[in-house]
Order: sequence, then C-alpha cells, then structure tokens
Amino acid sequence: VDTEAVVVHCSDHRFQAAFRDYLVEGLALRAYALMAVPGGGHFVSMGQFMPKFTKSNLQSISFLMKRTGAPRLILIGHDDCLFFRDQFQFYFTEATLSQRQFTNLRAARKQLLERFSGARVDIYFADAEADGSVQFIRID
Ligand SMILES: [Zn+2]
Repeated sequence: VDTEAVVVHCSDHRFQAAFRDYLVEGLALRAYALMAVPGGGHFVSMGQFMPKFTKSNLQSISFLMKRTGAPRLILIGHDDCLFFRDQFQFYFTEATLSQRQFTNLRAARKQLLERFSGARVDIYFADAEADGSVQFIRID
C-alpha cells in the first residue's frame, strides 16, 4: 500500500487515541507516515520566532514527503494545546486560543502549499467536548 498521507499532529497524550481513530476510521487512511511533535503543525509558520525548531521539523516533513511520495499532507491541531499556548499564542490577536490556532493552521497550510507544490494540504482541529468525546472539524 502506498503512503496516502504525511500526518503531523501534537504529542499530547490526551489526544493520541482520538487522532488515530480519526485517521483510520474518520478519514479511512490505510497507510500514513506520522510525525508527532509538541504543538503538531503549528511550527510551520513560526519560523521567525523558533527558527531552529521550525527548520528541523520542516526537514522531517520534506524527508517524509519525498521518500514516501505521499500526495497529501494532513495537519491536526487540538483543543487546549499546551505547546501552542506556551509558545505561539501571544503572536496572535484573535479572542480565543482555538481561533488563534485556526489562524495559525491556515497560515501553515498556505506555506506548505507553496513549499510542496502539487500536494494536497488538509487541516483539522480536534475539539474536546464536555462529555469527554473528541469532535474533529475540517478547517476551510
Ligand atoms: Zn498540543
């Protein structure tokens, strides 16, 4: 089976099972290459503020895209991302943390589309509900 996508999501233990379920069942992926790093794909557009972290992680994405030949990149942000909250949120002006993350993920998508021309880039957000379930939103 060819690699269908390169997936970048956060390392946060609270969301790992939901991420996996969504990728396998929600998106019906059979083969994907995974990069789990603190903050997931939020680093992509933050090179100005964390140049080494961004460069190193972008090198990993480039490696995976090139070596697997995956036609699609998937970034998944999540509710209450501690890394985003600690490192990145202060560079944004939207009212809520989630809104800031949405803005950041859209900027990340834009940069990835420029960097990997021809690839499809999808961004999602895992929203934790009061009952403990996780709902996934596709970000336009
Ligand atoms: Zn996180």
